[in-house]
Amino acid sequence: SKSCYVKKCFLWSREVKLSGFANGIEYVFGIIGYPVIELSMALQMADIHYIGMRNEQAACYAAQAIGYLTGTPGVVLVVSGPGLLHTFGGLANAQINCWPVLVIGGSAPQDHEGIGGFQECNQVDLARPYCKYSARPASISLIPMHVEKAIRVTKTGRPGAAYLDFPANILAGRVPIDTIPDQYGPTPVPVIYPNPAAIQEAVKVLLKAKRPLVIVGKGAAYAKAEKEVRELIDTTNLPFLATPMGKGVVPDTSPKCIAPARSLALQQADVILLLGARLNWILHFGRHPRFSPDIKVIQIDVCAEELHNSVKSEVAIQSDIKPAVAQILEGLKSNSFAMVADVSTPLNYYTVFHNLYESLPQNCIIVSEGANTMDIGRSMLFNDLPRHRLDAGTFGTMGVGPGFAIAAALYCRHYHPNKRVICVEGDSAFGFSGMEVETMVRYKLPITIVVVNNSGIYTGMEPEVYKEIQESGEVTKVTPPACLTYATRYENMMSLFGRVGYFVKTIPELKKVVQEALQVNDGPTVINVIINPTADRKPQTFRWLTESKL
Ligand code: ADP
Ligand code: MG
Repeated sequence: SKSCYVKKCFLWSREVKLSGFANGIEYVFGIIGYPVIELSMALQMADIHYIGMRNEQAACYAAQAIGYLTGTPGVVLVVSGPGLLHTFGGLANAQINCWPVLVIGGSAPQDHEGIGGFQECNQVDLARPYCKYSARPASISLIPMHVEKAIRVTKTGRPGAAYLDFPANILAGRVPIDTIPDQYGPTPVPVIYPNPAAIQEAVKVLLKAKRPLVIVGKGAAYAKAEKEVRELIDTTNLPFLATPMGKGVVPDTSPKCIAPARSLALQQADVILLLGARLNWILHFGRHPRFSPDIKVIQIDVCAEELHNSVKSEVAIQSDIKPAVAQILEGLKSNSFAMVADVSTPLNYYTVFHNLYESLPQNCIIVSEGANTMDIGRSMLFNDLPRHRLDAGTFGTMGVGPGFAIAAALYCRHYHPNKRVICVEGDSAFGFSGMEVETMVRYKLPITIVVVNNSGIYTGMEPEVYKEIQESGEVTKVTPPACLTYATRYENMMSLFGRVGYFVKTIPELKKVVQEALQVNDGPTVINVIINPTADRKPQTFRWLTESKL
């Protein structure tokens, strides 16, 4: 009778709680019938939502979607034989998607096995190919252990499916409550942390990358790694693509999302940071011609067996996305900071630009020309306002700087009297029109000229040449075409006008003289910053990083 049912189910609900369903399970989807009717009611009484569906396959799809969305599996409750068989499409889908789901099937009473019991079939074996764990508790008091294990298995490592088989005799059986062990409480999913050496390796590969690309998969979505991945993209400016269900981990509307150029991006990337996505058909197996034939993959996956699949990864890291991405970002940051923080003399480009930028008024107009000076400067001297940068332009013309600066200063005098003009020149570029300093003096134009002086064109000097100059003071062999006179004192041009310029070799000097120069209102100043002639453009190879906010 109904009241008898309810009483029985009430008692069972205590056991359901004991049985490990307290492990965070919130939803059960199913179609009930013999022998799982009482169990469905007991689940409800244990405050688990029971949703009656119309086909077991749909129930299984629903339960795995709950698993994906919440990280805790939904449960599917079905009857024996065909009821269970109908879940297999769903089970396979969950398993392939790496989504947690737990199917519970009633089955024929054990004493009817082998003699044609009602809906009898070998359910544990049939479910096994689609599951990480498929088992039948051997006794009632072993139920909690299996439930806890099944739920744990769906969530840990690579998420997936589990099946538990409950024969009718076990469902209908009774045991004294004190024989049920109660140590099977909630089990937190352990976080897999990456090997620090592998993270360092990944950072190294990324720093050397010319056209790096981040691919965000549904593993990153499942891992709830949005904070870390967004921070990585926002801070480093790395371009990214999302797989269909990786969409939204970083907003599709992010300027760094290069979905519109997906094919091109995949083809041209030289390094791929793969976050929770498999190089399967969705990603064209990571292979040529959709990817570059010598693509380097930095692969992060919680599943060790997935590493190196289809394409051998340059760096393969078994880890949860969250800690791995956070640590890669830390690594990238400390590298870039190391460059900017390197104030040893002779100075490098990055330190000079970083500190120059910090010393400049935010609204100034920046005129710039040179090779390295202009290229690196573009990435490190930020502009907040439109039409506030004038440089060698479409035609790549050297010698435009002083003329542009004069025009900008006249414009400011007329329209923005408080705005400053800063003219950042490579030493070679400055040579083209440097004499216009006289014009600036004549018209009392307060232009701050900064010559970033590496004693040559492009990378000023080969290390051997520089070494010779340091040792003997001159170049004895044929002068290389890229060399200019070592450490020319361009600031002395100011003495032509009875004024003084600034000679700078260190960062404290740079900061001090920029402040002084910005006070000069009745004419130009020249700040001659000596940098290492061999300061190379290696950092240029990861412009994606130096253009970032690191
Ligand atoms: P997509 O369809 O977006 O390409 P896939 O399903 O192919 O994504 O790949 C998802 C990958 O994410 C799987 O290899 C899985 O092992 C992995 N994964 C799942 N959860 C995590 C996690 N927390 N941390 C890292 N990797 C995870
Ligand atoms: Mg130069």
